[in-house]
Amino acid sequence: MLGRSAVGSPPAGKERPVRSTHVVVLGGGFAGLETAFLLRSRFGEDRLRLTVVSDRGEFLFKPNTIYLPFEGDDGHLRVPLEPALRRRGIGYVPAEVSTLDPGRRTVGLADGGTITYDYLVVATGARANPGEIPGLGEHGRQLCDPARLGSFAEELLWMVQYARHGHRQHVVCVVPPGLHYPTATYELALMLDTWLRRGDIRHQVEIRLVTHEETLLRDFGPKVHDAVTARFAEREIESDTGLTVTSTTGTKVKFGDHNARRYDLLICLPPQVAAVTYPGLPADDRGFLRCEPGTRAVRGYPEIFAPGDAGDFPIKQAFIALRHAEAVADAIGADLTGRPRDDATGGITTMFLLDMLDQALFAQVPLAVGQAPDGRTIVSPSARTPYRVGTGRWWRLGKHSVGRSVPAAFASGHPFHAGAWWDAAQRHLRAGTDALTR
Ligand SMILES: Cc1cc2nc3c(=O)[nH]c(=O)nc-3n(C[C@H](O)[C@H](O)[C@H](O)COP(=O)(O)OP(=O)(O)OC[C@H]3O[C@@H](n4cnc5c(N)ncnc54)[C@H](O)[C@@H]3O)c2cc1C
Repeated sequence: MLGRSAVGSPPAGKERPVRSTHVVVLGGGFAGLETAFLLRSRFGEDRLRLTVVSDRGEFLFKPNTIYLPFEGDDGHLRVPLEPALRRRGIGYVPAEVSTLDPGRRTVGLADGGTITYDYLVVATGARANPGEIPGLGEHGRQLCDPARLGSFAEELLWMVQYARHGHRQHVVCVVPPGLHYPTATYELALMLDTWLRRGDIRHQVEIRLVTHEETLLRDFGPKVHDAVTARFAEREIESDTGLTVTSTTGTKVKFGDHNARRYDLLICLPPQVAAVTYPGLPADDRGFLRCEPGTRAVRGYPEIFAPGDAGDFPIKQAFIALRHAEAVADAIGADLTGRPRDDATGGITTMFLLDMLDQALFAQVPLAVGQAPDGRTIVSPSARTPYRVGTGRWWRLGKHSVGRSVPAAFASGHPFHAGAWWDAAQRHLRAGTDALTR
Protein backbone atom coordinates (compact mmCIF):
# COMPACT_ATOMS: atom_id res chain seq x y z
CA MET A 1 0.00 0.00 0.00
CA LEU A 2 1.29 3.45 -0.83
CA GLY A 3 1.32 6.47 1.50
CA ARG A 4 -1.62 7.99 3.36
CA SER A 5 -3.83 10.37 1.50
CA ALA A 6 -5.52 13.63 2.35
CA VAL A 7 -7.45 16.21 0.38
CA GLY A 8 -6.90 19.96 0.69
CA SER A 9 -9.46 22.46 -0.57
CA PRO A 10 -11.64 22.18 -2.56
CA PRO A 11 -13.83 20.08 -2.19
CA ALA A 12 -15.77 22.17 0.26
CA GLY A 13 -16.87 20.79 3.58
CA LYS A 14 -15.14 18.79 6.25
CA GLU A 15 -12.22 16.57 5.46
CA ARG A 16 -13.19 12.92 5.47
CA PRO A 17 -11.27 10.44 7.60
CA VAL A 18 -8.63 8.54 5.67
CA ARG A 19 -9.92 5.03 5.12
CA SER A 20 -8.69 3.70 1.79
CA THR A 21 -6.26 4.12 -1.08
CA HIS A 22 -6.88 7.42 -2.83
CA VAL A 23 -6.76 7.50 -6.63
CA VAL A 24 -6.90 11.00 -8.08
CA VAL A 25 -7.82 11.30 -11.76
CA LEU A 26 -6.96 14.54 -13.56
CA GLY A 27 -9.33 15.10 -16.48
CA GLY A 28 -12.93 14.15 -17.24
CA GLY A 29 -12.47 12.95 -20.83
CA PHE A 30 -12.40 9.43 -22.29
CA ALA A 31 -9.30 8.28 -20.43
CA GLY A 32 -10.15 9.87 -17.09
CA LEU A 33 -13.77 8.75 -16.84
CA GLU A 34 -13.15 5.25 -18.17
CA THR A 35 -10.35 4.74 -15.62
CA ALA A 36 -12.48 6.07 -12.75
CA PHE A 37 -15.59 4.02 -13.64
CA LEU A 38 -13.58 0.85 -14.32
CA LEU A 39 -11.85 1.13 -10.95
CA ARG A 40 -15.17 1.74 -9.20
CA SER A 41 -16.71 -1.27 -10.94
CA ARG A 42 -13.89 -3.40 -9.48
CA PHE A 43 -13.41 -1.83 -6.02
CA GLY A 44 -16.04 -0.50 -3.62
CA GLU A 45 -15.85 2.77 -1.71
CA ASP A 46 -14.47 1.03 1.38
CA ARG A 47 -11.41 -0.10 -0.57
CA LEU A 48 -10.81 2.73 -2.99
CA ARG A 49 -11.43 6.42 -2.72
CA LEU A 50 -11.70 8.09 -6.12
CA THR A 51 -11.57 11.78 -7.00
CA VAL A 52 -11.86 13.29 -10.49
CA VAL A 53 -10.53 16.82 -11.07
CA SER A 54 -11.65 18.61 -14.22
CA ASP A 55 -11.57 22.18 -15.44
CA ARG A 56 -14.78 21.55 -17.42
CA GLY A 57 -18.02 20.46 -15.82
CA GLU A 58 -18.93 18.06 -18.59
CA PHE A 59 -17.60 15.23 -20.70
CA LEU A 60 -17.68 15.90 -24.45
CA PHE A 61 -17.73 13.12 -27.05
CA LYS A 62 -15.33 15.01 -29.32
CA PRO A 63 -15.20 12.60 -32.29
CA ASN A 64 -18.81 13.29 -33.28
CA THR A 65 -18.50 17.08 -33.02
CA ILE A 66 -17.29 16.68 -36.59
CA TYR A 67 -20.93 16.37 -37.71
CA LEU A 68 -21.88 19.77 -36.34
CA PRO A 69 -21.12 21.86 -39.44
CA PHE A 70 -23.23 19.49 -41.56
CA GLU A 71 -26.05 18.04 -39.45
CA GLY A 72 -27.36 17.72 -35.90
CA ASP A 73 -26.51 19.37 -32.59
CA ASP A 74 -24.20 18.39 -29.78
CA GLY A 75 -26.70 17.98 -26.91
CA HIS A 76 -26.37 14.19 -26.74
CA LEU A 77 -22.55 14.38 -26.90
CA ARG A 78 -22.24 16.09 -23.50
CA VAL A 79 -22.48 14.53 -20.04
CA PRO A 80 -22.48 16.62 -16.82
CA LEU A 81 -19.72 15.18 -14.64
CA GLU A 82 -20.93 15.83 -11.11
CA PRO A 83 -24.13 13.70 -11.08
CA ALA A 84 -22.49 10.85 -13.00
CA LEU A 85 -19.56 10.69 -10.58
CA ARG A 86 -21.74 11.14 -7.48
CA ARG A 87 -23.85 8.17 -8.59
CA ARG A 88 -20.77 5.97 -8.16
CA GLY A 89 -19.41 7.53 -4.99
CA ILE A 90 -16.61 9.32 -6.85
CA GLY A 91 -15.57 12.77 -5.64
CA TYR A 92 -15.58 15.62 -8.12
CA VAL A 93 -13.37 18.70 -7.91
CA PRO A 94 -14.20 21.36 -10.51
CA ALA A 95 -10.81 23.02 -10.82
CA GLU A 96 -7.88 23.63 -13.12
CA VAL A 97 -4.77 21.62 -12.35
CA SER A 98 -1.71 23.85 -12.25
CA THR A 99 1.18 22.04 -10.52
CA LEU A 100 2.36 18.61 -9.48
CA ASP A 101 4.81 17.67 -6.73
CA PRO A 102 5.54 13.96 -7.25
CA GLY A 103 7.83 13.90 -4.19
CA ARG A 104 5.01 14.97 -1.85
CA ARG A 105 2.36 13.33 -4.02
CA THR A 106 0.32 16.49 -4.24
CA VAL A 107 -1.47 18.21 -7.09
CA GLY A 108 -1.80 21.99 -6.96
CA LEU A 109 -4.97 23.66 -8.25
CA ALA A 110 -5.23 27.10 -9.85
CA ASP A 111 -7.59 28.22 -7.05
CA GLY A 112 -4.89 27.52 -4.45
CA GLY A 113 -6.17 24.14 -3.23
CA THR A 114 -4.08 20.98 -3.09
CA ILE A 115 -4.97 17.32 -3.35
CA THR A 116 -2.86 14.45 -2.07
CA TYR A 117 -2.90 11.10 -3.84
CA ASP A 118 -1.72 7.53 -3.51
CA TYR A 119 -2.10 6.96 -7.25
CA LEU A 120 -2.38 9.72 -9.83
CA VAL A 121 -3.96 9.31 -13.26
CA VAL A 122 -2.94 12.17 -15.54
CA ALA A 123 -5.63 12.29 -18.23
CA THR A 124 -5.59 15.97 -19.12
CA GLY A 125 -5.33 15.25 -22.85
CA ALA A 126 -3.87 17.36 -25.64
CA ARG A 127 -4.57 20.84 -26.94
CA ALA A 128 -4.25 22.43 -30.37
CA ASN A 129 -1.17 24.56 -30.92
CA PRO A 130 -1.88 26.61 -34.07
CA GLY A 131 0.93 29.07 -33.24
CA GLU A 132 3.47 26.52 -34.52
CA ILE A 133 2.48 27.38 -38.09
CA PRO A 134 2.62 31.13 -38.80
CA GLY A 135 -0.79 32.43 -39.88
CA LEU A 136 -2.71 29.27 -39.00
CA GLY A 137 -4.29 30.71 -35.86
CA GLU A 138 -5.85 33.55 -37.88
CA HIS A 139 -6.66 31.86 -41.18
CA GLY A 140 -7.19 28.12 -40.56
CA ARG A 141 -10.48 26.71 -39.28
CA GLN A 142 -9.86 25.42 -35.74
CA LEU A 143 -12.31 22.57 -35.93
CA CYS A 144 -11.02 20.90 -32.79
CA ASP A 145 -12.98 23.52 -30.85
CA PRO A 146 -16.76 22.84 -30.92
CA ALA A 147 -17.43 26.50 -30.13
CA ARG A 148 -16.01 27.42 -33.55
CA LEU A 149 -17.91 24.81 -35.51
CA GLY A 150 -20.98 27.06 -35.71
CA SER A 151 -19.05 29.80 -37.49
CA PHE A 152 -17.52 27.17 -39.79
CA ALA A 153 -21.05 26.10 -40.80
CA GLU A 154 -21.76 29.73 -41.73
CA GLU A 155 -18.59 29.90 -43.80
CA LEU A 156 -19.63 26.80 -45.69
CA LEU A 157 -22.93 28.48 -46.55
CA TRP A 158 -21.09 31.57 -47.79
CA MET A 159 -18.81 29.39 -49.90
CA VAL A 160 -21.84 27.75 -51.49
CA GLN A 161 -23.30 31.19 -52.25
CA TYR A 162 -20.10 32.25 -54.05
CA ALA A 163 -20.05 28.96 -55.95
CA ARG A 164 -23.69 29.43 -57.01
CA HIS A 165 -22.78 32.84 -58.35
CA GLY A 166 -20.22 31.24 -60.66
CA HIS A 167 -17.04 31.70 -58.59
CA ARG A 168 -15.22 28.36 -58.49
CA GLN A 169 -14.13 27.65 -54.90
CA HIS A 170 -10.96 25.95 -53.66
CA VAL A 171 -10.98 24.09 -50.36
CA VAL A 172 -7.59 22.96 -49.06
CA CYS A 173 -7.52 20.47 -46.16
CA VAL A 174 -4.07 20.31 -44.58
CA VAL A 175 -2.62 17.62 -42.29
CA PRO A 176 0.47 19.07 -40.54
CA PRO A 177 3.12 17.12 -38.61
CA GLY A 178 2.29 17.02 -34.91
CA LEU A 179 -1.43 16.36 -35.50
CA HIS A 180 -2.00 12.99 -33.83
CA TYR A 181 -5.56 12.30 -35.05
CA PRO A 182 -5.32 13.09 -38.80
CA THR A 183 -8.40 10.92 -39.50
CA ALA A 184 -10.63 13.90 -38.63
CA THR A 185 -9.22 16.02 -41.48
CA TYR A 186 -9.80 13.21 -43.99
CA GLU A 187 -13.30 12.75 -42.64
CA LEU A 188 -14.07 16.46 -43.07
CA ALA A 189 -12.92 16.35 -46.72
CA LEU A 190 -15.14 13.32 -47.41
CA MET A 191 -18.16 14.76 -45.58
CA LEU A 192 -17.80 18.06 -47.39
CA ASP A 193 -17.87 16.22 -50.72
CA THR A 194 -21.21 14.54 -49.92
CA TRP A 195 -22.70 17.71 -48.44
CA LEU A 196 -21.82 19.69 -51.60
CA ARG A 197 -23.17 16.93 -53.87
CA ARG A 198 -26.45 16.99 -51.96
CA GLY A 199 -26.59 20.74 -52.57
CA ASP A 200 -25.88 20.09 -56.28
CA ILE A 201 -22.88 22.42 -56.22
CA ARG A 202 -19.93 20.03 -55.96
CA HIS A 203 -18.90 20.73 -59.59
CA GLN A 204 -18.05 24.31 -58.58
CA VAL A 205 -15.79 23.38 -55.62
CA GLU A 206 -12.34 21.80 -55.76
CA ILE A 207 -11.43 19.79 -52.64
CA ARG A 208 -7.76 18.98 -52.08
CA LEU A 209 -6.12 17.27 -49.11
CA VAL A 210 -2.43 17.97 -48.56
CA THR A 211 -0.57 15.91 -45.96
CA HIS A 212 2.95 15.65 -44.63
CA GLU A 213 2.46 11.85 -44.50
CA GLU A 214 4.17 9.75 -47.19
CA THR A 215 0.93 7.83 -47.76
CA LEU A 216 -2.68 8.64 -46.90
CA LEU A 217 -3.27 7.94 -43.18
CA ARG A 218 0.21 6.41 -43.09
CA ASP A 219 0.06 5.12 -39.50
CA PHE A 220 -2.85 2.83 -40.35
CA GLY A 221 -1.01 0.99 -43.11
CA PRO A 222 -1.47 0.08 -46.77
CA LYS A 223 -5.07 -1.21 -46.65
CA VAL A 224 -6.30 2.07 -45.21
CA HIS A 225 -4.24 4.03 -47.75
CA ASP A 226 -5.73 2.01 -50.62
CA ALA A 227 -9.29 2.36 -49.33
CA VAL A 228 -8.96 6.13 -48.83
CA THR A 229 -7.28 6.52 -52.24
CA ALA A 230 -10.23 4.70 -53.84
CA ARG A 231 -12.79 6.88 -52.03
CA PHE A 232 -10.90 10.05 -53.03
CA ALA A 233 -10.78 8.90 -56.67
CA GLU A 234 -14.54 8.15 -56.75
CA ARG A 235 -15.26 11.56 -55.27
CA GLU A 236 -12.70 13.55 -57.24
CA ILE A 237 -10.89 14.71 -54.12
CA GLU A 238 -7.31 15.62 -55.05
CA SER A 239 -4.46 14.74 -52.69
CA ASP A 240 -0.76 15.51 -52.23
CA THR A 241 1.44 13.50 -49.87
CA GLY A 242 4.84 14.35 -48.36
CA LEU A 243 4.16 18.11 -48.28
CA THR A 244 4.66 19.97 -45.00
CA VAL A 245 2.78 23.21 -44.42
CA THR A 246 5.10 26.05 -43.34
CA SER A 247 2.80 29.10 -43.16
CA THR A 248 -0.51 30.51 -44.28
CA THR A 249 -1.81 33.89 -45.34
CA GLY A 250 -5.44 34.90 -45.86
CA THR A 251 -5.43 33.46 -49.39
CA LYS A 252 -2.49 31.07 -49.68
CA VAL A 253 -1.03 28.13 -47.85
CA LYS A 254 2.71 27.58 -48.25
CA PHE A 255 4.62 24.30 -48.15
CA GLY A 256 8.19 23.19 -47.43
CA ASP A 257 9.00 22.70 -51.12
CA HIS A 258 8.35 26.47 -51.64
CA ASN A 259 5.09 25.75 -53.45
CA ALA A 260 1.95 27.59 -52.43
CA ARG A 261 -1.73 26.88 -53.01
CA ARG A 262 -4.45 29.44 -53.24
CA TYR A 263 -7.55 28.67 -51.20
CA ASP A 264 -10.98 30.08 -50.47
CA LEU A 265 -11.42 27.86 -47.40
CA LEU A 266 -8.55 26.35 -45.41
CA ILE A 267 -9.30 23.40 -43.14
CA CYS A 268 -6.34 22.56 -40.94
CA LEU A 269 -6.57 20.88 -37.56
CA PRO A 270 -3.42 22.21 -35.87
CA PRO A 271 -0.47 20.34 -34.38
CA GLN A 272 -1.03 19.22 -30.80
CA VAL A 273 0.86 19.59 -27.53
CA ALA A 274 0.06 18.36 -24.03
CA ALA A 275 -2.85 20.35 -22.54
CA VAL A 276 -0.93 20.57 -19.26
CA THR A 277 2.82 20.25 -18.76
CA TYR A 278 4.13 18.58 -15.63
CA PRO A 279 7.70 19.79 -15.00
CA GLY A 280 9.76 17.06 -13.38
CA LEU A 281 8.01 14.19 -15.12
CA PRO A 282 9.68 12.70 -18.24
CA ALA A 283 8.06 14.06 -21.41
CA ASP A 284 8.72 14.29 -25.14
CA ASP A 285 9.24 17.59 -26.99
CA ARG A 286 5.46 18.19 -27.13
CA GLY A 287 5.01 17.68 -23.41
CA PHE A 288 3.44 14.21 -23.72
CA LEU A 289 4.45 12.07 -20.74
CA ARG A 290 6.82 9.17 -21.38
CA CYS A 291 5.06 5.96 -20.38
CA GLU A 292 5.73 2.26 -19.97
CA PRO A 293 3.98 0.84 -23.05
CA GLY A 294 1.96 -1.86 -21.29
CA THR A 295 0.65 -0.16 -18.14
CA ARG A 296 0.88 3.52 -19.18
CA ALA A 297 2.76 4.20 -15.92
CA VAL A 298 4.94 7.28 -16.29
CA ARG A 299 8.56 6.16 -16.58
CA GLY A 300 10.22 6.14 -13.17
CA TYR A 301 6.92 6.90 -11.38
CA PRO A 302 4.98 3.65 -10.84
CA GLU A 303 2.23 5.49 -8.93
CA ILE A 304 1.54 7.96 -11.79
CA PHE A 305 -0.17 6.97 -15.05
CA ALA A 306 -0.84 8.89 -18.28
CA PRO A 307 -3.54 7.19 -20.37
CA GLY A 308 -4.96 8.71 -23.56
CA ASP A 309 -3.78 11.88 -25.25
CA ALA A 310 -1.70 13.06 -22.25
CA GLY A 311 0.82 10.23 -22.75
CA ASP A 312 3.39 9.62 -25.47
CA PHE A 313 1.42 7.08 -27.52
CA PRO A 314 2.01 8.29 -31.11
CA ILE A 315 -1.63 8.01 -32.23
CA LYS A 316 -4.21 9.94 -30.23
CA GLN A 317 -7.71 8.54 -30.48
CA ALA A 318 -10.66 8.11 -28.16
CA PHE A 319 -10.62 4.35 -28.74
CA ILE A 320 -6.97 4.18 -27.70
CA ALA A 321 -7.66 6.36 -24.65
CA LEU A 322 -10.29 3.81 -23.54
CA ARG A 323 -7.84 0.92 -24.03
CA HIS A 324 -5.20 2.78 -22.03
CA ALA A 325 -7.72 3.31 -19.23
CA GLU A 326 -8.17 -0.46 -19.04
CA ALA A 327 -4.40 -0.93 -18.74
CA VAL A 328 -4.24 1.63 -15.92
CA ALA A 329 -7.16 0.07 -14.03
CA ASP A 330 -5.52 -3.36 -14.44
CA ALA A 331 -2.20 -2.09 -13.06
CA ILE A 332 -3.74 -0.35 -10.03
CA GLY A 333 -5.97 -3.37 -9.48
CA ALA A 334 -2.94 -5.68 -9.56
CA ASP A 335 -1.20 -3.57 -6.89
CA LEU A 336 -4.29 -3.53 -4.68
CA THR A 337 -4.70 -7.28 -4.85
CA GLY A 338 -1.00 -8.08 -4.50
CA ARG A 339 -0.52 -9.42 -8.03
CA PRO A 340 2.35 -8.46 -10.36
CA ARG A 341 1.53 -5.84 -12.99
CA ASP A 342 1.31 -7.07 -16.57
CA ASP A 343 3.59 -4.81 -18.61
CA ALA A 344 3.48 -6.89 -21.78
CA THR A 345 4.18 -4.67 -24.78
CA GLY A 346 2.21 -6.72 -27.26
CA GLY A 347 0.71 -3.67 -28.93
CA ILE A 348 -2.83 -2.42 -29.21
CA THR A 349 -5.61 -2.86 -31.75
CA THR A 350 -7.37 0.35 -32.69
CA MET A 351 -10.59 0.88 -34.60
CA PHE A 352 -11.96 3.93 -36.30
CA LEU A 353 -14.71 5.02 -38.64
CA LEU A 354 -14.48 7.72 -41.31
CA ASP A 355 -18.00 8.89 -42.03
CA MET A 356 -18.72 10.34 -45.47
CA LEU A 357 -22.39 11.15 -44.67
CA ASP A 358 -23.56 8.59 -47.26
CA GLN A 359 -21.30 5.67 -46.27
CA ALA A 360 -18.43 5.09 -43.85
CA LEU A 361 -15.03 3.46 -43.89
CA PHE A 362 -14.25 1.16 -40.98
CA ALA A 363 -10.73 0.07 -40.05
CA GLN A 364 -9.50 -2.39 -37.44
CA VAL A 365 -5.75 -1.98 -37.17
CA PRO A 366 -3.45 -4.02 -34.90
CA LEU A 367 -0.60 -1.68 -34.01
CA ALA A 368 2.86 -2.68 -32.84
CA VAL A 369 4.76 -0.21 -30.69
CA GLY A 370 8.51 0.11 -30.28
CA GLN A 371 9.44 -1.64 -33.53
CA ALA A 372 9.93 1.40 -35.77
CA PRO A 373 13.17 3.36 -35.17
CA ASP A 374 11.41 6.76 -35.01
CA GLY A 375 8.98 5.73 -32.25
CA ARG A 376 6.02 5.48 -34.62
CA THR A 377 3.61 2.58 -34.54
CA ILE A 378 3.49 0.08 -37.39
CA VAL A 379 0.74 -2.30 -38.44
CA SER A 380 1.62 -5.44 -36.54
CA PRO A 381 2.57 -8.30 -38.85
CA SER A 382 2.03 -10.90 -36.12
CA ALA A 383 -1.02 -9.77 -34.13
CA ARG A 384 -3.82 -12.24 -33.48
CA THR A 385 -6.43 -9.60 -34.33
CA PRO A 386 -6.72 -9.32 -38.12
CA TYR A 387 -6.02 -6.09 -40.02
CA ARG A 388 -9.36 -5.32 -41.72
CA VAL A 389 -10.86 -2.44 -43.68
CA GLY A 390 -14.35 -2.10 -45.13
CA THR A 391 -16.60 0.57 -46.60
CA GLY A 392 -20.38 0.66 -46.66
CA ARG A 393 -23.55 2.35 -45.50
CA TRP A 394 -23.95 0.06 -42.47
CA TRP A 395 -20.79 1.36 -40.86
CA ARG A 396 -22.45 4.76 -40.45
CA LEU A 397 -24.70 3.19 -37.83
CA GLY A 398 -21.61 2.19 -35.87
CA LYS A 399 -20.34 5.76 -35.60
CA HIS A 400 -23.72 7.12 -34.49
CA SER A 401 -24.26 4.23 -32.09
CA VAL A 402 -20.89 4.73 -30.36
CA GLY A 403 -21.61 8.47 -30.18
CA ARG A 404 -24.73 7.66 -28.13
CA SER A 405 -23.44 4.67 -26.15
CA VAL A 406 -20.29 6.20 -24.67
CA PRO A 407 -22.09 9.29 -23.24
CA ALA A 408 -24.92 7.01 -22.02
CA ALA A 409 -22.47 4.67 -20.25
CA PHE A 410 -20.65 7.58 -18.63
CA ALA A 411 -23.90 9.33 -17.63
CA SER A 412 -24.94 6.19 -15.76
CA GLY A 413 -21.53 6.00 -14.06
CA HIS A 414 -20.28 2.97 -15.96
CA PRO A 415 -17.23 2.30 -18.11
CA PHE A 416 -17.78 1.80 -21.84
CA HIS A 417 -15.42 -1.14 -22.32
CA ALA A 418 -16.96 -3.43 -19.72
CA GLY A 419 -20.12 -5.27 -18.82
CA ALA A 420 -22.92 -6.94 -20.78
CA TRP A 421 -23.37 -4.04 -23.23
CA TRP A 422 -19.73 -4.16 -24.28
CA ASP A 423 -19.78 -7.97 -24.61
CA ALA A 424 -22.78 -7.71 -26.95
CA ALA A 425 -21.20 -4.83 -28.89
CA GLN A 426 -18.04 -6.87 -29.39
CA ARG A 427 -20.04 -9.82 -30.73
CA HIS A 428 -21.82 -7.56 -33.24
CA LEU A 429 -18.56 -5.92 -34.20
CA ARG A 430 -16.88 -9.26 -34.83
CA ALA A 431 -19.79 -10.40 -36.99
CA GLY A 432 -19.78 -7.08 -38.89
CA THR A 433 -16.02 -7.19 -39.35
CA ASP A 434 -16.16 -10.76 -40.71
CA ALA A 435 -18.99 -9.97 -43.11
CA LEU A 436 -18.22 -6.43 -44.23
CA THR A 437 -14.43 -6.04 -44.32
CA ARG A 438 -11.43 -7.50 -46.09
C1 LIG B 1 -12.74 17.10 -34.07
C2 LIG B 1 -12.18 15.83 -33.48
C3 LIG B 1 -12.47 14.62 -34.08
C4 LIG B 1 -11.96 13.43 -33.55
N1 LIG B 1 -12.31 12.24 -34.14
C5 LIG B 1 -11.95 11.08 -33.55
C6 LIG B 1 -12.44 9.83 -34.04
O1 LIG B 1 -13.19 9.77 -35.02
N2 LIG B 1 -12.08 8.69 -33.41
C7 LIG B 1 -11.27 8.72 -32.31
O2 LIG B 1 -11.00 7.64 -31.75
N3 LIG B 1 -10.77 9.88 -31.82
C8 LIG B 1 -11.09 11.07 -32.41
N4 LIG B 1 -10.63 12.26 -31.91
C9 LIG B 1 -9.62 12.25 -30.83
C10 LIG B 1 -10.25 12.01 -29.47
O3 LIG B 1 -11.29 12.93 -29.23
C11 LIG B 1 -9.17 12.14 -28.39
O4 LIG B 1 -8.14 11.22 -28.68
C12 LIG B 1 -9.76 11.84 -27.02
O5 LIG B 1 -10.65 12.88 -26.66
C13 LIG B 1 -8.66 11.69 -25.97
O6 LIG B 1 -9.24 11.47 -24.72
P1 LIG B 1 -8.50 11.97 -23.39
O7 LIG B 1 -9.36 11.56 -22.26
O8 LIG B 1 -7.09 11.53 -23.40
O9 LIG B 1 -8.46 13.56 -23.53
P2 LIG B 1 -9.68 14.57 -23.58
O10 LIG B 1 -10.89 13.93 -24.13
O11 LIG B 1 -9.15 15.77 -24.29
O12 LIG B 1 -9.96 14.93 -22.06
C14 LIG B 1 -9.07 15.74 -21.33
C15 LIG B 1 -9.76 16.18 -20.05
O13 LIG B 1 -8.84 16.91 -19.24
C16 LIG B 1 -9.44 18.12 -18.83
N5 LIG B 1 -8.37 19.11 -18.61
C17 LIG B 1 -7.53 19.64 -19.52
N6 LIG B 1 -6.70 20.52 -18.93
C18 LIG B 1 -7.01 20.52 -17.61
C19 LIG B 1 -6.51 21.22 -16.47
N7 LIG B 1 -5.49 22.10 -16.53
N8 LIG B 1 -7.08 20.98 -15.27
C20 LIG B 1 -8.10 20.10 -15.15
N9 LIG B 1 -8.61 19.42 -16.19
C21 LIG B 1 -8.07 19.62 -17.40
C22 LIG B 1 -10.39 18.47 -19.97
O14 LIG B 1 -11.40 19.38 -19.56
C23 LIG B 1 -10.96 17.09 -20.28
O15 LIG B 1 -11.97 16.77 -19.36
C24 LIG B 1 -11.12 13.47 -32.41
C25 LIG B 1 -10.82 14.69 -31.81
C26 LIG B 1 -11.35 15.86 -32.32
C27 LIG B 1 -11.04 17.18 -31.64
